[in-house]
Amino acid sequence: MGVVETLTDRNADFAATRFTEGLRMMPNLKTIVIGCVDPRVDPASVLGAEPGDIAAIRNVGGRVTRRTLEELVMLRQVTRAAGGDLGPGWELIVLQHTHCGITLLQDRPELLTPYFATDEAGLAGQAIGDPRAAVAHDVAELHAETRLEGVRVSGLLYDVATGEVETVVAP
Ligand SMILES: [Zn+2]
Repeated sequence: MGVVETLTDRNADFAATRFTEGLRMMPNLKTIVIGCVDPRVDPASVLGAEPGDIAAIRNVGGRVTRRTLEELVMLRQVTRAAGGDLGPGWELIVLQHTHCGITLLQDRPELLTPYFATDEAGLAGQAIGDPRAAVAHDVAELHAETRLEGVRVSGLLYDVATGEVETVVAP
């Protein structure tokens, strides 16, 4: 059996036994996590979130890039269209992790500059090889985004060796 068949089989089991009816479009905890695509760091899993608790935006590194900011601004428009507002009362959590694959590219500026929409001088500030500094940098980027004013921002670092999260920047 192929992978897709395996997964659709598992879905049948999910729908029959674990599906939660009546979940709302907006996350119960009014929380959006920005995390890495790495399968070891599924935000809902490592933070113990229940279905519907949090929304997640995942990219390589769990980084706050220009594209991430555009996603968040679009999400704010969606929440407004749904009768709410992604503003005061909401949380943005940057969740990055140790041994992230993006660090394998830290000596490849030609690959990193388009991703971060910066030049080689600007890459130093992205702190590719220093996960705590990268979290702090990205939290600052969110704080500086005027289109997300009023949202609380924090930064966590997940250790893939222990499963533990460290608060690098408190809300
Ligand atoms: Zn990663």
